[in-house]
Amino acid sequence: MTVLVSGATGFVAQYIINDLLKQNYKVIGTVRSQETADKLKKLFGNNPNLALELVADIAAPNAFDSVFKKYGSDIKVVLHTASPVSINTRECEKDLLIPAVNGTKNILEAIKKYAAKSVERVVVTSSCAAVVDTSNQGDGSVVYTEESWNPATWEICQVNGISAYCGSKKLAEAAAWDFVRENRNAVKFQLSTVNPIYVFGPQLFDEDVKDRLSSSCELINALLRGKPEAQYLQGMRGNYIDVRDVSRAHLAAFQKEQAIGKRLILSNGPFTYQNLEDDFPQLKGKILVGNPGSGKDIHKTMPTIDNTKTREILGYPFKSLKETVDDTAAQILKKDGKL
Ligand code: NDP
Repeated sequence: MTVLVSGATGFVAQYIINDLLKQNYKVIGTVRSQETADKLKKLFGNNPNLALELVADIAAPNAFDSVFKKYGSDIKVVLHTASPVSINTRECEKDLLIPAVNGTKNILEAIKKYAAKSVERVVVTSSCAAVVDTSNQGDGSVVYTEESWNPATWEICQVNGISAYCGSKKLAEAAAWDFVRENRNAVKFQLSTVNPIYVFGPQLFDEDVKDRLSSSCELINALLRGKPEAQYLQGMRGNYIDVRDVSRAHLAAFQKEQAIGKRLILSNGPFTYQNLEDDFPQLKGKILVGNPGSGKDIHKTMPTIDNTKTREILGYPFKSLKETVDDTAAQILKKDGKL
C-alpha cells in the first residue's frame, strides 16, 4: 500500500516515514528541494520503498497536482504533516496562515481531482494549538477535550507569531473538516486529525542535531547548551508528548476504524522547565536549575488536557517525561562530546 507524506524533511515526518517503511508500506514523501531530497534519501539508506517528490511551496496554487498526476490511484493514504512552524515572524498571513490553510486545501483538492476514488484515508497533522484557548493559560479549572476548539479567527490571531501559529493550526484543521463535509459525495476518503502538544524526543538521525533544533525540542536544546533565551524560558510550562508516540498515532489514525472522523489529542501530562540535572550529573552547576519541587504547584494553575477518548482509541501507553527528555538530552550531549 502506498502512503503520501507531505513535509518529509520534518522532525515528526521522518519518524512517520521510518515507521511506515518498517511496516512495509511504500512511501512517497514531498520535500521542498532536490538538495533536501538527495540528503533525506541517503539518510534512509536509499530505501527502494521511499520516493521523494518536489513540492516547493504547499501554498502555491495546485501545489500537489503533479504528485497526484504521477502516482494517481496508487496512493491510498495521505498524511499531511507539512505546515509552517516559524513563530518568529511578523508577516503572519504570508508566513503562517496562508501556507497552513492553503497547503491543507491544496492537498485535499488534489485528491479530489486525481484520486477521489482511490484515497481511502487522510490524516492531517493539526496541533493542540487548534484545541486550547491561550487566554485560559493560567486557569487550572479549565479542561480541554477532543471537542474543544481554539476560538481564534483569521483577523484576531495576527497579534504575534505564536498567536498566529495557533490560529494557523486551528484554521487549517477546520478547513480540512469543512472540506470533508462539503465534498462528502465527491471523495471517498475518511479524515482523522492528530493534535499533538509540545513534541519532545530525539531527532531520528543524529545528523539533524544542529545548533538550533526545530520547534519544541529547542526548549531542551536552549537549556542544555546554556543559550541566553533559557533565562526567560525558566517560567515555561506546558504539556508534552514524545515524537515516537506522535508518529505511532499517525499510523493508528489511518489503520484503525475507531479513528475515523476523530481528533486524536496527544498529550501525556505537564512539564516545567527544570530537572535535567538529576539524570545528567555532568550538567551540575552548568545549567539553570529552575525551582526544584515547585512543579506540582505550577501544574495546579494549568488547564488540564483530558484525552481519555484518544488514549482508548490508540491503546498504547505514551512515553514518560523522563524518557523523552533524557533521550532528547542524551542525543544533544553526545553530539557535543559530553556523553
Ligand atoms: P518541522 O519544521 O520539522 O517540519 C515542518 C515540515 O513542513 C518541513 O518538512 C517543512 O519543510 C515543511 N513545510 C513548512 N512550510 C512549508 C511550505 N510552505 N511548503 C512546503 N513545505 C513546507 O516541524 P515538526 O516536524 O515539528 O512539525 C510537523 C507538523 O506537526 C506540523 O504540522 C506542526 O504544526 C505539527 N506540530 C508540531 C509540534 C511540535 O512540537 N513539533 C506540536 C504540534 C503540532 P522544510 O524542512 O523544507 O522547511
